[in-house]
Amino acid sequence: MRFSKRMDTLPPYLFAEIERKIAQKRAAGVDVISLGIGDPDLPTPAYIVEEMQRQVADPRNHRYPTTAGLQEFAQAAARFYQRRFGVEIDPEEEFLAVLGGKEGLAHLCWSTLDPGDLALVPDPGYPVYSGCTLLAGAEPRYLPLRAENHFLPDLDAVSAADARRAKVLFIGYPNNPTSAIVQEGFFERVVEFATKWDIAVVHDNAYSELGFDGYSAPSFLATPGAKDVGVEFWSFSKPFNMTGWRVGFAVGNRQILEPLWRLKSNLDSGVFEAVQRTAAYILDGPWDSVHEMNALYQRRRDVLIEALRSIGVDAMPPKATIYLWIPVPAGYTSAGFAEHVLDQAGVVVTPGTGYGQAGEGFVRISLTTPDDRIEEAVERIRRSLTLS
Ligand SMILES: *Cc1c(COP(=O)(O)O)cnc(C)c1O
Repeated sequence: MRFSKRMDTLPPYLFAEIERKIAQKRAAGVDVISLGIGDPDLPTPAYIVEEMQRQVADPRNHRYPTTAGLQEFAQAAARFYQRRFGVEIDPEEEFLAVLGGKEGLAHLCWSTLDPGDLALVPDPGYPVYSGCTLLAGAEPRYLPLRAENHFLPDLDAVSAADARRAKVLFIGYPNNPTSAIVQEGFFERVVEFATKWDIAVVHDNAYSELGFDGYSAPSFLATPGAKDVGVEFWSFSKPFNMTGWRVGFAVGNRQILEPLWRLKSNLDSGVFEAVQRTAAYILDGPWDSVHEMNALYQRRRDVLIEALRSIGVDAMPPKATIYLWIPVPAGYTSAGFAEHVLDQAGVVVTPGTGYGQAGEGFVRISLTTPDDRIEEAVERIRRSLTLS
């Protein structure tokens, strides 16, 4: 049999590899603690599950959905963007339901990029940005995110030739994997850069609701001129423990959304309407469960930071996301340290290089594991470091 050349450029998804290693260890009898993937350990809040139970029983939700999404969902998203971010969204023209942010982002490459085109991709970055760029036959140009620049890309370092060729710029703050938040003036700089070079900005706002110490992340679309150059993806997965539900939306520039809508209308048949109606209900509803989750993650963050400091790892407590981005101890590479803790402590952390070359020197630790397992993981890492 012969397969698509396209697939030759595409590595297996980062966590597919890690899951394989975990399975091997578990088969060998190791009690593996995974601080790897960012998949909330707690269930979807009960009030959401109950609404979904009502919606799934309603036959009006059982037929093919429209690709764009229900107006009821679009209007709830517009109300949410107004209330939460002060951003005005036209629910008819500036909204598109997606089967999770990952799906929307991945297909956006197909509606935006041709073979030979350039996409500006953060390094380290969510692997979907580079993966979908490669699948579309285009070339990722990696923009390093460095600690000394608050993990923001240096747009001044992009050459004029690259800026001219680039059609898309991917960014996302609060950031996965670095857990960095946006700094004053950065989004304005992005709008200026994208306007000058005619580049579509894709802002991935999957973590806007996950903030600590009172931090509340902004929308890129609240920046003057942002809607002229960009779209933003928002997802229910992380704030509402709904990773399995596959629902999110894109809002913003209609010229970017229209071809994505047209592409998707040929590929999928939209989001289950029971899920869309539940999503609308969530956006119009109380935010208590989000506050509770943030309190929980903040506590886990503090436990981990303190434990890491006690073993000599200098870690800064992040203001947002569900990750710690931690420098590896001296003498280790990212991959070497991840391998060491898996082999010697049975703990999974994600090597920074899994997100790009500039992730060297870091590992990502996810906060989506129960407290007692987090404490045990750190204790095991501590022992493995003092033994070696
Ligand atoms: C989790 C995540 C998403 C969205 O995931 P979906 O479950 O597909 O909505 C998007 N971007 C980043 C950076 C993420 O970490």
